[in-house]
Amino acid sequence: MVDNYKHKGLRNNLVKTLENKGITDQRVLQAIGNVPRHLFFDEALLKYAYQDNAFPIGEGQTISQPYTVAFQSQHLNVQPGHSVLEIGTGSGYQASILLELGARLFTIERHEALHLKACELLDNLGYHYRGFLGDGSQGLPNLAPFDRIIVTAGAPVVPHELLEQLNVNGILLIPVGDEKDQTMMKFTKVEPNKVLREELGNFQFVPLVREDGWM
Ligand code: SAM
Repeated sequence: MVDNYKHKGLRNNLVKTLENKGITDQRVLQAIGNVPRHLFFDEALLKYAYQDNAFPIGEGQTISQPYTVAFQSQHLNVQPGHSVLEIGTGSGYQASILLELGARLFTIERHEALHLKACELLDNLGYHYRGFLGDGSQGLPNLAPFDRIIVTAGAPVVPHELLEQLNVNGILLIPVGDEKDQTMMKFTKVEPNKVLREELGNFQFVPLVREDGWM
């Protein structure tokens, strides 16, 4: 697992790009600057690892664009010790950023090959977290409540189970829309039965898939 000066220089440039695009949270920028994103890439795509784009990771899935990872991380406002559920482990890159921010992370992925690969890498990088294989569209009720829930795939509707699994003052971020285009939705549980809803702009994610089809 080589991480040399060239990679660190490319990461510094990526951090500057994200600042220029409006990411202001210094903890998030520092996490992006710390994590060797190239290790989450297949050999053939290594030269693209520090571009601000999404790339294929196998199984028809993608590693999210760094801007999207930074944007979601900034809005999630993870504090050390927060219990965080990520739905859609994918490459494990977003997971590593949440871990750098001090999350007690639970992450779930439905593709076995991606789950195994991401967990192996996160283990090798020395992170402590719990990785699950399966359909995360209804959260992880046995491990709830969570302080933060982040969905990294696009859903047609907001699964009410996820709102139920949030602590008071908890935040859920989920892209909601059709299979091509979604609006990033932020839900903040301000009281046990009161949730604030904000729309944060357009994004394109791969679909959140349930065992019986697209949600
Ligand atoms: N967070 C990932 C990263 O940093 O690489 C981004 C992953 S990709 C945009 C979305 C992931 O969500 C895919 O790996 C996909 O297999 C997964 N996914 C889709 N539906 C899911 C579900 N119901 N439960 C768990 N994972 C799901």
